[in-house]
Amino acid sequence: MANLQRNHAVCRGLTTKRRFCNQFFPIMEDNLRNQLDEHFEGVAQLRNFYIKLDIEISKISNKYNFHCKNGCGACCMGNAINKEATVFELLPLAIELEISGKSNKYLEILENEDCPKNVCVCVVFVDNQKGLGHCGEYKYRPLVCRLFGDSMYHEKNNVVDFIGCHWLKELYENSLNKKQLHDLLPKMSETVFEGRCFSDNSYDTVIDINSALKTALELVKMKHDLIDGKLEF
Ligand code: SF4
Ligand code: SF4
Repeated sequence: MANLQRNHAVCRGLTTKRRFCNQFFPIMEDNLRNQLDEHFEGVAQLRNFYIKLDIEISKISNKYNFHCKNGCGACCMGNAINKEATVFELLPLAIELEISGKSNKYLEILENEDCPKNVCVCVVFVDNQKGLGHCGEYKYRPLVCRLFGDSMYHEKNNVVDFIGCHWLKELYENSLNKKQLHDLLPKMSETVFEGRCFSDNSYDTVIDINSALKTALELVKMKHDLIDGKLEF
């Protein structure tokens, strides 16, 4: 707790007024705790939702043998600014990184001012060069990453289409028609909405994936400091 107090923005500016800070810090701490708790409401449900979605999608892809090209990570390459998520969606990953001791490494990269604004790919992407690579934190990837390549979207006039790369689109469409695909696969917008609804933080807007992960990591660190002990969710 002393660490949190020392690092708190208000207390940092009050080092010469230590008594004032000692008196008011417990009040600030309570407010902070309440605000933080709001961010973490629904995370356990979201984590279960991720597991359920993985099971559903893998049943379909195993049944029809629809799998990514071996070692391909093409959809993860390119500027992370084009991949969007909410902070809430990244909390399960941020918690996992904090528990496994990897969060400082990622925070250091994300705090570089060039990242994510200019050229950064998603910070957890493992680039194996020559168009190959993979997600370094696949289990807790956010919704858009789970659904790209295995979902459908509604266009205007109720036209539906597959969401994914050419490789998977061809695999799917060579085996099933659009109506079958529509009945079988999750719908992108409904599923994303369902996942995000576990949180009632209406201010949790959609931002680029690296910025969302950075904020999620900071929130988890703050929570970890506040509980002064083992991080459990
Ligand atoms: S979805 Fe397509 S582009 Fe992305 S990794 Fe799979 S095969 Fe490659
Ligand atoms: S979280 Fe994983 S799947 Fe999503 S963009 Fe990053 S590396 Fe790719």
